[in-house]
Amino acid sequence: MKDEYDLIVLGAGSGGLAAAKRAASYGARVAVVEGDKVGGTCVIRGCVPKKLLVYGSQFYDNLDEAESFGVNLSNTQINVQKLLENVRKEVSRLNELHVNFLSKSGVELFYGWGRFCDSNTISILDEHKKVIKNIRAKRILIAVGGKPVRLNIPGSEKAWISDDVFIQKSFPEKIVIVGGGFIACEFACILNSLGVKIVQIVRRNYLLRGFDKEVSSVLQKEMQNKNISIIFEGNPVRIDGKYGELSVKIDSGEDFSCNAILLATGRRPFIDGLNLKDAGVLTLNGKISVDSNNMTNSQGIFAIGDVTDRINLTPVAIEEGRVFSDRFYGNKPRNVNYDFVPKAVFSQPEIAMVGLSEEEAIQAYGKENLDIHRTKFRPMSHALSKQGPSCFLKLLVDKDSERIIGCHMLGEHSAEIIQMAAIALQMGATKKDFDSTMALHPTISEEFVTMN
Ligand code: NDP
Repeated sequence: MKDEYDLIVLGAGSGGLAAAKRAASYGARVAVVEGDKVGGTCVIRGCVPKKLLVYGSQFYDNLDEAESFGVNLSNTQINVQKLLENVRKEVSRLNELHVNFLSKSGVELFYGWGRFCDSNTISILDEHKKVIKNIRAKRILIAVGGKPVRLNIPGSEKAWISDDVFIQKSFPEKIVIVGGGFIACEFACILNSLGVKIVQIVRRNYLLRGFDKEVSSVLQKEMQNKNISIIFEGNPVRIDGKYGELSVKIDSGEDFSCNAILLATGRRPFIDGLNLKDAGVLTLNGKISVDSNNMTNSQGIFAIGDVTDRINLTPVAIEEGRVFSDRFYGNKPRNVNYDFVPKAVFSQPEIAMVGLSEEEAIQAYGKENLDIHRTKFRPMSHALSKQGPSCFLKLLVDKDSERIIGCHMLGEHSAEIIQMAAIALQMGATKKDFDSTMALHPTISEEFVTMN
């Protein structure tokens, strides 16, 4: 029948696209429902435009060291407006590319907001919540992702969330960023390198919960060296003024005036309009719980990516989508490997890790059972200018098995290097394996195989 499908995917983000294309490649009849732009958070308002801004801002930062390489840039002009325009053009190109990929895969794309009528039927609504049409499927995959959380304080609607950063024409002189997580640290560094004065307000007394505390404290010092002002143990209580002339008050009574405020205080699943109740899908703390097959409590309804209670990272959502379709449409059952998921924060300098933090390793193995190796140095790329961030590398080893259980890095190319280290760790590499690997000189990562 015309409006009957084997699979309906709600959300055309990284996870939904991966699942839809993989299922269609096995011959399944697939429909994707998307209310916004195809590409989702990662491509449209997350990883991709963010990383392009990281490259742009680093480029500006590197200009400070040009003199040491004999480059005279006395009349250099920085045009942030142009950078933002070019980032948006690239995002549009990728958006079109993903729409084309769907069509080439034989997936039917419906623009509109999906809403459950029952566990097999989805109504597609327009922006006025009017039903455009109803479609049905044996299986429905929820891949709608998440959206930023706004603080529940007076005036919070005057602040930006991360989505808003990408639609600006240019940036004002001074921005207050609230949060100490991924997004807050990444944007603090990007905007600082683009010449914006940054005050970052963090409710804990350290950055980046979940990362190795020693690594995050090195990052903190590097960010402070770049004149990012970090206020720890500050909880915003209200926002006053209007865009251009705002102020944030924190619980100590202190006021921070600025031109704009960015709230980077976490994300939550975007389930508001789905009407999960009528489909019988249960949530816990606003997240959809799933089993090892990504099935919800409701027969035939599945969920992947940031809408679930699992790890919220793009590659995890993509793999969950592919595993789902391999299992149900390709007759190739397999499981997602959640061990040794590498993570990076594209701060400047960037940090990346795979395995356990020192705090987690102590809990799991006991302090007396760990060997910890670390090294900190100025990379050769900054040897001539004698300025710029250092590198910090750290290995955590289980004394008993000699396996490396945590590998951490701060410094240039950290994410690229840790991606490769993740292969070794997941294969069970020991410190001896690292030590018996020949160094590649002169590099930063050779320190991982020459550490005492
Ligand atoms: P995070 O959870 O990383 O950080 C949220 C920050 O906001 C934390 O410092 C948190 O403090 C703080 N916070 C939360 N609630 C409040 C509050 N009421 N008042 C004051 N501070 C508050 O979330 P992000 O928004 O930075 O990023 C969302 C997710 O997106 C990440 O977890 C990650 O999964 C993904 N992401 C991944 C990236 C990457 O892979 N490079 C880049 C960007 C995002 P506390 O620590 O005390 O909870």
